[in-house]
Amino acid sequence: MSQGPDPDRERSLVLAQRSFELMRDYCACATPRAYAVWYLYVAGTQPLMNDAIKRLTTQNGTLTAADIDGLHDAYIDARRLAVEVDRMNSGLIAEVEGIMEMIDVSIHSTTQYGESLQALSHDIANTSTSRTRLREVVTTLIANTRDVTANNRTLEARMRESRGEIEALRETLEAARLESLTDALTGLGNRRCFEEALQRAVDAPTSGRRPTSLIVVDIDSFKRFNDTYGHLTGDQVLRLVAIVMREHVGLAGATLARFGGEEFSIVLPETGLAEARAIAERVRAGVTGRELVKRSTGESLGKVTVSLGVATQHGDDNAVSLLERADACLFAAKRAGRNRTLDETEAALRDVA
Ligand code: GH3
Ligand code: MG
Ligand code: MG
Repeated sequence: MSQGPDPDRERSLVLAQRSFELMRDYCACATPRAYAVWYLYVAGTQPLMNDAIKRLTTQNGTLTAADIDGLHDAYIDARRLAVEVDRMNSGLIAEVEGIMEMIDVSIHSTTQYGESLQALSHDIANTSTSRTRLREVVTTLIANTRDVTANNRTLEARMRESRGEIEALRETLEAARLESLTDALTGLGNRRCFEEALQRAVDAPTSGRRPTSLIVVDIDSFKRFNDTYGHLTGDQVLRLVAIVMREHVGLAGATLARFGGEEFSIVLPETGLAEARAIAERVRAGVTGRELVKRSTGESLGKVTVSLGVATQHGDDNAVSLLERADACLFAAKRAGRNRTLDETEAALRDVA
């Protein structure tokens, strides 16, 4: 029997070859995690991950082991959540099965009870029934009534218990879901949270609603800050920027996230460009207005500034194109001298100039 080449196999080998090339050119390590990330990149099934990779390689020329870990966690390793979901499912199934068994027992004893009642009514109707027989029937009836009552009580208690367990399972699942969407350092959303929010906002039906706007925020000269004061103090700055963002974005429905090392984003559904720009400016002014003080020594560390890019959704935008435009505005703000906000109309004017 002749076998032609298997197209799936051929394609996967081409993808593997390409992944190796990219790993060699752009990666500090050739671990299984790195391979998984690059393979997915070449397969092109996760456009937002590809966008994140392009962003990192353009900025740094390479993907570090930490970058690979971040990408792997965000895009591939959804296992923790999946395990929780599986655990919850089997927990629920066990609970439901337990309740079904109890209901079966209850139905059985209720049926028996009904039969006793029927027998009693038959025997009472029959005038020749002896007193002894009547007593027997009444005794059975009393016993069955006790059974039914006891079963109902057990069923009720079991259901109450199950309700508690289902509630606990739901809380565990919710906690795992939140954790998988949260940036541990700042408590804001992480990259996945940002992408989901952006996708949701952009995909919402456009008719009759205002557009989605997007603000991207990048700390200015942060590398220098880290080099001067150390990474831990740098982390404090990241927390501070998160606090200022929370303070100044009062809009319900907005999603605040740290989606890269020192890059933040604000997804603003139903928000026009002017309003989004005003929010961005408030964040910028809020960050600039904060004097940094080293907690341990009280030493003043001066101020940090941020640059911001603002774009708003047009008819044919998708999540990636909107992000690219907001990013282009951010880069224009950096080029224009940092510590400023540029929206897409201003950035376009600067590019022409
Ligand atoms: P620019 O004004 O052009 O944005 O300059 P920059 O120095 O901020 O930008 P660059 O991309 O060269 O450096 C970003 C720095 O952010 C590199 C790294 O030291 C720092 N960084 C990234 N992630 C973290 C983090 O989680 N904690 C700390 N403390 N620093 C981080
Ligand atoms: Mg940056
Ligand atoms: Mg920066």
